[in-house]
Amino acid sequence: MVGLRMSDGARERLDAERRQTLARLADLTEDFDAVVAASRDTNADDEHDPEGATIAFERSQVQALLRQARRHLDEVEAALERLGAGTYGTCEVCGGPIAAERLEARSVARTCITCASKGR
Ligand SMILES: [Zn+2]
Repeated sequence: MVGLRMSDGARERLDAERRQTLARLADLTEDFDAVVAASRDTNADDEHDPEGATIAFERSQVQALLRQARRHLDEVEAALERLGAGTYGTCEVCGGPIAAERLEARSVARTCITCASKGR
């Protein structure tokens, strides 16, 4: 590593987070396909079939996790863009710096702790 700029560590963290999120998406997509395949083997459309209800529940759970993971991937990619643009670590609301500890805990943070605590 050369230099002590904050963005060096940030890029590594974001790259790692991006890889993890992509792996998670791949896993979840596999899970989802498996649930869909399972629902095809049973009368999943039959609300009175307890197994069908379980599968429908599992499917909605996996869908929710997939949505979360996709949203997180978007956030990570937006953070990487900000890093490239030189605006990473700058609060989008007040324009002030985002504390390094906050970025370490939440590398996709767009706002400083003050603005975040105001719910913006
Ligand atoms: Zn702020």
